[in-house]
Parts: sequence; structure tokens; C-alpha cells
Amino acid sequence: MGNVRFDAIRRAMEHRAIAVASPEGRVKDYFARDVFTREKMKEYISGDVLLQLFDDVDNGRTIRRDIADSVAIGIRKWAMERGATHFTHWFQPLTGGTAEKHDAFFTLDKNGMPVEALSGDSLYQQEPDASSFPSGGIRNTFEARGYSAWDPSSPVFLIGDTLCIPTVFVAYTGEALDYKTPLLRSTASLCHAAREVCQYFDKQVKHVHANLGWEQEYFLVDESLYSARPDLVMTGRTLMGHNSAKSQQLEDHYFGAIPERVLAFMRELEYEALMAGIPVRTRHNEVAPNQFEMAPIYEDVNLANDHNLLVMSIMERVAEKHHFRVLLHEKPYAGVNGSGKHCNWSLQTNTGINLLAPGKNPYQNLQFVTFLVNVLMAVHRHNGLLKASIVSATNEHRLGANEAPPAIISVFLGKQISEVLDKLEHASADEAIIINAKKEMKLGVANIPEILLDNTDRNRTSPFAFTGNRFEFRAVGSSANCGAAMLTLNAAVAEQLMLFKEEVDKRVEQGEAKERVLFDVIKRYIVACKAIRFDGNGYSDEWKEEAKKRGLDCEQSTPLIIDRYLSDSSVDMFGKTNVLSRGELESRCEVKWETYVKKLQIESRVMGDLVVNHVLPAAKRYQTMLLQNVLAVKQVFSADETESLNEMDYSIIRQIEKHSRAILDGVERMTDARHKANRQPDERSKAIAYHDHVLPLMAEIRDHADAVEMIVDDELWTLPKYRELMFVH
Ligand code: ADP
Ligand code: MG
Repeated sequence: MGNVRFDAIRRAMEHRAIAVASPEGRVKDYFARDVFTREKMKEYISGDVLLQLFDDVDNGRTIRRDIADSVAIGIRKWAMERGATHFTHWFQPLTGGTAEKHDAFFTLDKNGMPVEALSGDSLYQQEPDASSFPSGGIRNTFEARGYSAWDPSSPVFLIGDTLCIPTVFVAYTGEALDYKTPLLRSTASLCHAAREVCQYFDKQVKHVHANLGWEQEYFLVDESLYSARPDLVMTGRTLMGHNSAKSQQLEDHYFGAIPERVLAFMRELEYEALMAGIPVRTRHNEVAPNQFEMAPIYEDVNLANDHNLLVMSIMERVAEKHHFRVLLHEKPYAGVNGSGKHCNWSLQTNTGINLLAPGKNPYQNLQFVTFLVNVLMAVHRHNGLLKASIVSATNEHRLGANEAPPAIISVFLGKQISEVLDKLEHASADEAIIINAKKEMKLGVANIPEILLDNTDRNRTSPFAFTGNRFEFRAVGSSANCGAAMLTLNAAVAEQLMLFKEEVDKRVEQGEAKERVLFDVIKRYIVACKAIRFDGNGYSDEWKEEAKKRGLDCEQSTPLIIDRYLSDSSVDMFGKTNVLSRGELESRCEVKWETYVKKLQIESRVMGDLVVNHVLPAAKRYQTMLLQNVLAVKQVFSADETESLNEMDYSIIRQIEKHSRAILDGVERMTDARHKANRQPDERSKAIAYHDHVLPLMAEIRDHADAVEMIVDDELWTLPKYRELMFVH
């Protein structure tokens, strides 16, 4: 009888030998070839329409309906010249990933003649049959309609023969059913609040926008090995598997050269990404075996997020061509590093100033400190909520493990910036703000050094780190839509800047000098948000104790962390910034709990199947072999001799028996726990029940299954092992 696992390994080895040619050409010749860029628009859309379009987009206004037709004609012409036959509204449902429904340009005219068209209306708005997307109760049956509507701030692009139109996805009532809608609202709110605060320092600032540079981590696994692991196929992670004797301890993968076959995959991935206008720049191995990372140059947060989602789907497609599967799950393998998606975030003005970088003169420096400290305040006040923005059933396995961001949000600032803040905290206004006879301002203490961008004291254990000219939110999961984290951060900072401005304005109106008030409020903030600053080891147990004392959110259970969306401070903040209403927040929580439950339900079922169909049969077979051996030995050897001869066999037979019983018993209890959880009255209680009662049993069963894997004859084991999944490439 053939062993599925050995067949898979053999095929994986064959895949290594298949060379795939790398794409050729120079980046500047094919960058954004598949994107309807502004340059191309000039060719396909008439001047006055274009002016109107750009003006609306640049000022964040809704596009006038009457220009939609002209724009649509230009778009279709360009797309069809590039071979497109279909178009789709491309949106970001709350399930994660992206969704699309393709329609042909082809249609019949009044006389029944075939024509190819894209009307302004179909560019502008569609009603995808979206009743299967989760809405958390927002769309009840009588108004079950969801609309996708064009987001002209992100350009349309081609994938194969399909024109993709980035869209928001909203309910009949206008409530958001996606990530893009609130992300756009949050950037509008943040830009406004930041611009207002910038006026204290520079009247030239008309516009501020948020940047995002994501770093996408992922694993690759050979497709035949992947196919032989039902858990990978069904859940995206291994539900069992004994640790490989060699794992990541040597860190030789991180520093090593990229394997040839992987390199071929990366080249093609980058080529495809660049054609789609995604400015990818960095590729390297990551810490764990077969783990890699790609990162583009940062862009406006909305566009960057679209690009990240697009890259995730391009990755999957290109991987298949190279007989790989890409694992975007946060924790495909226990015991080795998981995958995250660091979100590098900064604020930039239309005058070209990065508000999170130390400036060249005292005003810019005070402005920098103002924004830095306001971000700290926002993160401090909403640390529990920010954690809620990154949790999921999949990221849960990554957080808090000793090789990932801890499940407590704190901010790492580094020595230089910490010193600056400490000095400001202890300075008097007279020391800090010196206004000379010419009415020029000097900063007495905050003489901020140019921070070396590659400053070496980066702390990898921090979930939220300042890295010289930006903040890096590292707790975001590799499979997540960064939008969830970014919109929360944007909104929290927007609210904070609004509060700051209110306070400063009030005192200035009462006659105090602006510079002094700014300094005074900042100084008070530095003290108020001290608890969020932590430069130490985020993995240590002492930190957990310390964080509790500081009043930071230390909750570890995903379903309970989700509650933070509905706390008074969150509802207030999202309301004040017009990002999400209470109803929208409630529906989001419903979806989050529901998704959590579904994921765990599937995992738990797959686990049950795996142990019953793979682990136990292999165990039984091996046990039978040993038992037969014992009997045979007894026939040949004398009683005295057999006792010592069979000692090892007996011990293994007993171990197998013990683990098999424990597995069977565990599966029974797990099934019970699942049934009980399913009977809970609402999604939140179900999620809590899954977290508290099903998850621990899965861990228990896994321990026994892994122990069985250790003892069973390698020949009988049918599931590809960790050492094969991670080291064959
Ligand atoms: P690391 O050393 O953390 O791996 P890189 O220097 O490769 O980081 O940059 C990671 C990401 O940060 C890239 O996407 C990069 O474009 C982005 N980045 C750099 N500067 C900024 C900034 N000012 N704002 C936002 N993102 C930035
Ligand atoms: Mg980084």
C-alpha cells in the first residue's frame, strides 16, 4: 500500500527540478502597466472632465454623477485595448480578503444587437448579490441590499481580462459593510484634525495624509505536501505536528541566501505586483524556515491597503504556478515564528513635511513633539481598542507567544526620544520656550538630534514602536486587512488631536501665549500617558505584572478583547470622528465573534477527523505490528529470554494505548464542548465558549497526537511532518 506522505515528498522533490523562467525587462518599462494612472487618464478622458475628477478626488469630495459616463467610456476604452472583456467592483467584506463579481462589457442594445459598454452607472454603483457576506445584522431581510460604490481615489486596474474597480461596500442605509468605508472616513477625520493642529506651526499646510508601508510575512510550502495535510488545506494552519529536530534555532534561514525555487517565485510575484502598480522593493527570508517577507515603498494608507490586499491574491496565484502554496495564516506551525504584517504609519503634509520626523528648526521640532506625544496619548487612551483592532482567531496564536508581539499594547520610543520627553517633562516653560527679541522661538531643552533611521536599539518585542520617522504597528496579523488597525489608529489620533486643539485654543483665547500653552499641554500629556511607554522586554513575565499595575489592558481572550469596540470611550471616539456609529460597531463585533466561532468550529472538526482518520489508524497499525512481534518472539524464544526482549515493545505498546485512549476521550469531550458552545444564545457567548472550552481541548489532543507521531514507525505516518513542510523547498 502506498503512503500518501512519501508520494507527496517525491512529487515535491520533482517540483524542485522544474525551472520557471524569470520575467525580463526593466521595472520602469512595466511599472503600473495594468493601472489606469493619471497619466493614462489624460490620454483617454477629455480635459474638463478630468480637471473636475482630479479636483473632486484631491479634495475628498464625492464624484459628480454627470461626469461618470465620460469617465467610464475612457476607462473601458483603455481596458479593452489591453484585452479586458469583463469588469468587476472590487471590495473588502468583513470576512477578510476581497470580493468581486464579474460582468462582461458585452450587452445587447435596444435592437438586440451585441455591444460592448460600461455605463457611468455601472462604474459608479453596483448591487452585488451580497446577501452571503456578513453584516452583523445590519442588513435584515426586508432591506437586504448591499451596494458597492466606486472609490475614485484608488485607480482602477486590470487582472487578466478583468477590469477591477476599487469600491466601498455599504448597506442600503449607508452603513459600512466593509473595511474601506471606515478607513476613508478615518483618513478624512485625521487629515482635518492634523491640518488644524499644523496651523499652530505652519499656515502653509493645507492637507495632511496618512502613509502606510506594510511588511507582509508569509510561508511557502510545496503544493503536494500541502495537499497531503487536510488541516493546512481546510484551516490554513497545522493542527498537529511534532516539532522538527532542526527548527529555527540556528537562524541560518534568516541570514541565508534565498533558495533558487523561491527566488523564481519572488521574481514573478514582484513582476506581477509592479505591473499592478504596487511599488514592491524589499524581499528577504524571515526567521522561521520557509518564511519570507515582502515590502513595498509606503503610499497613502487607502491605496497601500488596496495594494496589500491585491498582493495577497497575486501571491496565491503566482505561488500555484510554481507548485507552491502560500500560507498567510499568522501561525501555520506551532513552535516557530508566526507571521505578522508590520504597518509602518506616518503623517505627511502637502508641504512635504513628515510630522513624525524631527524637523530642521524649533517650530518643526515642537510640531514633531506635538504629534509624537498626541499619538502616544491616543495609543494610551485606546490601548485596549487598538488590541481589539488586531485580534482574530488566527492572530490569537501569534500574540503572546514568546516570539511575537505581546498581547499588551505598549509603545517603544528608544533612548533618544525618551530622553527628549524626559527633559521636556522636567523643564519649566521658561527653560523650554525661549522667545528672543526678534520674536523668534528657540527650544531650550528639546534640542532634538537627527535620529538615525537605522537606529540599532530597535526593540523587536514591542507591538508598537517608534522607528525614527514613523510608528510601526507590529501586532497586525499577516492575513488581516490592515484597514481594521489603520482606521482605529487614524480615528484615535484624530480624536486626540481634536481634544488637544480644543484645550490649546481655549487657553490662547484667554490670552496665554501660544508657544507656552503648547508646551504646557504637551508636558501634561507626557506625564499623563507615561504608562504606555515601555522599552523593556515585552515577552517577560515581569512586564505582564508591571503592565497590570500601570492599568494597561491585559486581557488575553480574543472574544473578550472584541468587547473593547463597544466601550464608552470607543463608541464616543468613533462617533466624534464620524468613523463608525454604535450600530456599525455592534455589527462589526457580531461579525468578529461569528467569524471566530466558525474558524474554531472548523478547526475542531478537522482535528477530530485527522486524529480519527490518520493518527489513530497509524497508531493501531504500529501497535498491531508490535503485538504480532511480541507473539512471534514468544514462539521462538524461551520465557526467560522474551521478558527482556519485549520490554521495549511493551513500553511502546502501552504508550500508544495510553495516547490513543486519551485522544479518543479528548475528541469526545471536544465534540461535547462544541455542541454546548453551539447552543449558546448569541455569537459572543458562543465565541467565549469556544475560546474557554474547545480551544484547550484541541491543545490537549494535539499533545497526544504529537506524542504518537514521535513513536510510530516513520513508514506508517501519512501526514507530512514539520521537517518536510518546512525544509523542502
Ligand atoms: P524594516 O527595517 O523595519 O524591515 P524598511 O526600512 O524595509 O523596514 O521599511 C519598512 C516599510 O516602512 C517600507 O514599506 C517602507 O516604505 C516603510 N516606511 C519607510 N518610511 C516610512 C514613513 N515615513 N512612513 C510610512 N512608512 C514608511
Ligand atoms: Mg519593520
